[in-house]
Amino acid sequence: MAIDATQPYDDDNIFAKILRGEIPNQTVYENDHALAFHDINPQAPHHILVIPKGRYVSWDDFSANATESEIVGFVHAVGHVARSAGMVEPGYRLLANVGKDGHQEVPHLHVHIFAGKPLGPMLLKG
Ligand code: 5GP
Repeated sequence: MAIDATQPYDDDNIFAKILRGEIPNQTVYENDHALAFHDINPQAPHHILVIPKGRYVSWDDFSANATESEIVGFVHAVGHVARSAGMVEPGYRLLANVGKDGHQEVPHLHVHIFAGKPLGPMLLKG
């Protein structure tokens, strides 16, 4: 179910548990401020999630409240994963769902990286 992105951070969300090592993940890359791992239900041949290690609900929360080093570390992680996985050519898609209309299901900021096939138009119509 999609979440309200204005809610306070929930320490019981699934990505908080992954960050605490309570739930396993297939890590692709990690730095001081970000963790990248394979999505459990891939929607493309390559589907990687990148999350900040800090307690941020959404892109909105992160951009308003994260430190500069957290923002730099997170953005670096996204680019590093795309480059090291060989996605720059032929291309890839970044997606960050926020809140109810954005259909965000996990209330911890994450960027989806999709690649590995032509990904079609940006949004489904209708
Ligand atoms: P959202 O709809 O919030 O943007 O996407 C949440 C994503 O998290 C979904 O693509 C879903 O498959 C993924 N996900 C949910 N639970 C887990 C989990 O326990 N492990 C991993 N690796 N991904 C998860």
